[in-house]
Amino acid sequence: MDIVVKTSSEKCQVHRKSLKVYCFDCHKIICRDCTMVDHKDHKFDFASVTAPATKEELMKDLEPLRRKKDELTLATGTIQVTRQRVQEWRDTIKGNIRDSFSELISSIKQCEKGLLEETDKFIQERVDKLQLVDTDVTSVAADTQKVLDYIATCLKYSSDNEIMTMHLELKDYIVKEQQKEVNVQSLNIKQLGNNEKIVERSDAVLRDINEIKSQICNLAIFPVQCLVEGGGLSTA
Ligand SMILES: [Zn+2]
Ligand SMILES: [Zn+2]
Repeated sequence: MDIVVKTSSEKCQVHRKSLKVYCFDCHKIICRDCTMVDHKDHKFDFASVTAPATKEELMKDLEPLRRKKDELTLATGTIQVTRQRVQEWRDTIKGNIRDSFSELISSIKQCEKGLLEETDKFIQERVDKLQLVDTDVTSVAADTQKVLDYIATCLKYSSDNEIMTMHLELKDYIVKEQQKEVNVQSLNIKQLGNNEKIVERSDAVLRDINEIKSQICNLAIFPVQCLVEGGGLSTA
C-alpha cells in the first residue's frame, strides 16, 4: 500500500487567503472567508486547535495495531522455536527408528542363525541314527550272508552222516540269525525318514515369519489424518 501525503496549496483557490480552518462537515481545510460563504452553517475550527486532539486520537487508534504487530512478532519467534523443535523431532524419531531396526535386524539374523542351526542339528541327529542303523544292518547282512554261505557249503559237500550230525547245530545258527533279522526290523528306519511333523513345524514357523513380515511392512508412525491436521493458519 502506498501512502500519499496530500500537500494542499497554502492559499484558498477562491479567496486567495491562508487555509487555516478545518470544516468538520466537509472534511477539508478552508480559509476564513469560506467560513462566511459555502461553509456558513457548518461546524469548523482552526486547524491548529483541532490538530493536537486529532493527532492524539490517531495515536490512540494506533495502539491496537501496535499490539497486533507485537503479537505477530511474538508469533514469528514462536514459529522459529517450534520449527526448530519439530526438526529436532525428525532427528530423534529417525534415530529411534534406525536403532530399533538395527536391533530388529540383528535379532532376525540371530533367530535365522538359530533356526538354521536347529535344523542342522535335527537333521544331523537323524543322519547319525541312520548311520548307526546302516552299520548294524550291514553287519547283520554280512553275518546272514556268512551263515547262508556256510550252510550252503555244508549241504553241498557234507555226507549224509555229517549232515545228520550237524543238523541241530545248523538249525540253531539259522534261528539265531533269524532273530537278528527281527532286531533289524525293529530299528524303525521308515520312522526316521518320516518328515510329516518336521514339515508341519517348519511350515508353522514360516507362517509366523510371514506374519511378522506383514506386520513390519504395515508399520506407520503417523496416520494419514495426522499429516493434515492443524494444517490451516488460524485466523482467530
Ligand atoms: Zn476560501
Ligand atoms: Zn463545510
